[in-house]
Amino acid sequence: MKISGGCFCGEVAYESEFDNAWVGICHCRDCQIFSGSAFRMSGITDVEGFTFTKGAPKYFDKRADSGSVRRLAFCGECGAHLCSLPSEQDAKPHFVSIRISTAKEFPKLRPTAEIFCDSRVSWLEPIKGNDQFPRMPDLNA
Ligand SMILES: [Zn+2]
Ligand SMILES: [Zn+2]
Repeated sequence: MKISGGCFCGEVAYESEFDNAWVGICHCRDCQIFSGSAFRMSGITDVEGFTFTKGAPKYFDKRADSGSVRRLAFCGECGAHLCSLPSEQDAKPHFVSIRISTAKEFPKLRPTAEIFCDSRVSWLEPIKGNDQFPRMPDLNA
C-alpha cells in the first residue's frame, strides 16, 4: 500500500510506501506541544520508501529523549508538521515518522500501539486493544 498527503496550504506534499508501517499514538510532552492536543498520531515506516513530491519542507533538528537527533519536517508557509526523519544518512533510529493525519488515507488507519504512556493526560483511558508502552519501544536499535 502507498499513502500520500501534504500540508494544510498545499505547498508541500509527499508519498510513501506503507506496507510494513506501524501506526501509533504518542503521548510524549513534545508531541502534545507540537500537536496542540493530548497526543499525536504517527505512521512509522522505512525512510527509503518516503519521498517529497511537491515543494520543500523546512526542518528543525530536535534531540530526542534517547539522545538521537531527529529532523522535523514542516511546511514553511502554513506550519503544518509532516514527518520526522533521520538527521543524517545513517543516523539511528532509521525510519520516517509521518504525522499521519496529513495523509489522505488517515481515516482508514487505526493505531495499534501507544507510546510514552507515562505522560498520557490523566483524563484519557488507554484505547482498547492497543499495545501500551511507558516510553519509547525499541523499533530498530
Ligand atoms: Zn503548507
Ligand atoms: Zn511524541
